[in-house]
Parts: sequence; C-alpha cells; structure tokens
Amino acid sequence: MVDQFDAQHLWHPYTSMLNPLPTFKVKQAYGSTIELEDGRTLIDGMSSWWCAIHGYNHPELNQAVTDQLTRMSHIMFGGLTHDPAIELGKLLLSITPPQLQKIFYADSGSVAVEVALKMAVQYWNAQGKKEKTNFVSTRSGYHGDTWNAMSVCDPVTGMHQIFGSCLPVRYFVAAPQSRFDGAWNPQDIFELEQLLKDKHEQLAAFIIEPIVQGAGGMRFYHPEYLRQVKRLCEKYQLLVIFDEIATGFGRTGKLFAWEHAQVEPDIMCIGKALTGGYLTLSATLTTTEVAETISRGEAGVFMHGPTFMANPLACAVAHRSTQLLLAQNWQQRIRDIETQLTKALTPLADLAHVADVRVLGAIGVVELNHAVDMAQLQQEFVQRGIWVRPFGKLVYVMPPYIILEDELDTLLMQLIAVVSQLKGGA
Ligand SMILES: *Cc1c(COP(=O)(O)O)cnc(C)c1O
Repeated sequence: MVDQFDAQHLWHPYTSMLNPLPTFKVKQAYGSTIELEDGRTLIDGMSSWWCAIHGYNHPELNQAVTDQLTRMSHIMFGGLTHDPAIELGKLLLSITPPQLQKIFYADSGSVAVEVALKMAVQYWNAQGKKEKTNFVSTRSGYHGDTWNAMSVCDPVTGMHQIFGSCLPVRYFVAAPQSRFDGAWNPQDIFELEQLLKDKHEQLAAFIIEPIVQGAGGMRFYHPEYLRQVKRLCEKYQLLVIFDEIATGFGRTGKLFAWEHAQVEPDIMCIGKALTGGYLTLSATLTTTEVAETISRGEAGVFMHGPTFMANPLACAVAHRSTQLLLAQNWQQRIRDIETQLTKALTPLADLAHVADVRVLGAIGVVELNHAVDMAQLQQEFVQRGIWVRPFGKLVYVMPPYIILEDELDTLLMQLIAVVSQLKGGA
C-alpha cells in the first residue's frame, strides 16, 4: 500500500522523514469522491484544504483549462498582458470590498501575504514614516509558511522559537474570545488598544483572518472585533490587512468573510478556492490610495514581481470557477450544508472528551479535549470511506459545495462514529 519511493524521498507537509505518516495513493478524483489506487473510494471532507469548492474533475473547469491551454499556458506579465488576467480582474473587483481597486496577482497564499506586508511598509515609507515597518496580529492566526508570513502566524503553532533571532519579531495580542454567535465582550479589544497606543509609531499594519481563524485553531469570532480593529487602526494610523485566503468564495456563508462585519480592509489577500482548486494562484488587492502612495514613493514602483505572475491557465480557470459559483444559488447551498453540519455534529458536544462543536457556513469543527493520534484516526477514516484530516485537537470538515446530501450524511455519520468511540480523555 505505502509507496516506497514516496516514503523514502518525498517530503509531505509537516511530516518526519524518519518515521513518515502513511500516505494513501490517489488514482483519480471526481465530484466529492477521491478514488485510491486500490479501488477504494473516499468521500471528501476537506476540499483539498479549502480549495476544491466545485469538487474534482469538473467538466466546465476542465474546459476552461483546455481552452486556455490551446492558446498559451504561460506568458510573462512584465510588459505583456492577456484576457484571462483582465477578465478575472474585472470579476474580482465586482465581488470584493468596493474600495479595493488594484490587484496584484501572485502564485500562492503565502506570497500574497508577503506582498500585502511589503505594500504596507512601502506605503508608510513613501510618506516619510520610515519607522512604521512592524506588524501586529492576534494569536491563533495562520498566514502561510514563508518567512514573513510565518512571522505573523501564532508564535506557538508557528513554532517561532525554532527560528530564533532570524525570524522578525512581531507584536501579538490575545485572539478575540467573543464567539461569532455569542455576545460581544468589549474587553476583547483592550489589549490591542493599549498596544497601538504605545507602539503605533513602529507599526505598519494589523493583519488578521476575518471571522474565521483557520489553520491556527479553527476559531469563529465576533464581527464586532473587526469593527473595533478598523476604528483603532484608523485612529493610530495602521493599515488593515484581511487574509481571506481560507474564508473567501462563500465558505463562511458570505462571499467573503469581511461582509459579516461590513468593514473594508486596506489590503486583502485571496487564494485557495480562487481557482476552484485547479492551480495555484493568489491575489493581493488594495485601494487606489495605497497603490498611488506607493507609486509616489522613493522606489516609484511596488517592489515585487513573481515569475509566474498572473499565469494565464490559472487566471482562466479562476475566472470560470468564480463565474460558476456566482451563477448558482450558492447562499442556499452553503445554508443547507450548514444545517446538515449543525444537526449532525451538535450532539457530539455532550461527549465528555469533546470540548466544543462549532459550525459556520460550510465549516464544521469538533474540538476535543486532547490532541488526536493523527495516524490512527486517518487510518480509521479511510477504512470507513471518508477523507478527513484532523490536526491537534481538531477534527473538522469543509466539504466541496457540490457534495450531495446523502454523501454528506455518510461523511458525518462515519466521522461521528470515529469521534464517539475515542475513549473519554484518551
Ligand atoms: C493556506 C493559507 C495561507 C497560505 O497559503 P498557501 O497557498 O499555502 O501559501 C495563508 N493564509 C491563510 C488564512 C491560509 O489559510
């Protein structure tokens, strides 16, 4: 079953090369189904980490890629442009915060975050505020694995201590405690207020994942937090960066999560579901004011230019994927998934070894009291025909939007069976 070459030579995310976790070889995937090489099929609960919102092997997305392939798969973006980039740009501007008018395409979420951080620093630099170079974020955040993206991730789960003094030191405040569906506790914002009061002269921006903190803990917090953040950042002259890489394209029940709070950021990062999970592509959007200020600065330009910037294949499939999403009653689809997740998962909250159950949009989270044995759980899920990948204390699902009602039923039934039989406190 385990491929020997793979185990000996291929690095998988966050795994040991001495004692790698088993990997399952996939032959193909279609709809919400992942078919393993040995013929077993799994119902997908992960959307390949938030990405494959329309499922796998979608005929219209396949067509978008093949159509573009016959024209050109790639062309440099320096000095050249093309319809896929332009058409995608027009569509994105029609669905993102109205004050964001300038788009920078990059090749992954982490790079989009790097770009956002650089924009913020250049923005203040251009205005002669050369000390405003640092960042503040909340704990439990996740913004990617490259150097500066990592520096604004939760210091513990982001393992900052391993990198010692070579990782830039950022400011962190406690993650908001007021739950998305609970009451707002004004104390949630006091620490940030104090910090900004003391340190604003060296701070370029506040970066946060709006409403849903993803890989840093799968937490859903109160929209008022974002309104308070915006108020304070205006008062103390910090840009607000929303990292919508996980939350974008309908996942939380809104097209983008900022809409829950109706607070517009100065800079926003998108990625993951942007291409429907077909190819890697991200974008950093900003306001005319930020873009023009940067352009009036010392450098006169924004200092970034990825080789694969605005890759036409990726832009073409992103355009089609976004059209596909908007052409359907996606709000109803997400509400139906939300209802199904809530109904099935809520009873788990009564188990002694379950700390919390929460659902928002097409995201369902079961938080346990103790970290799970990932290798063992993974094996059990696969034996039961579902693909769910827990981390730490979290067993969670975010299925493709096209999942059928009875597929989701089966997925949840099997997940519940595995979680229920975990021994209390084990
Ligand atoms: C996944 C993720 C990133 C990083 O994106 P990559 O494409 O993996 O580099 C950044 N921010 C958030 C919120 C994410 O979920």
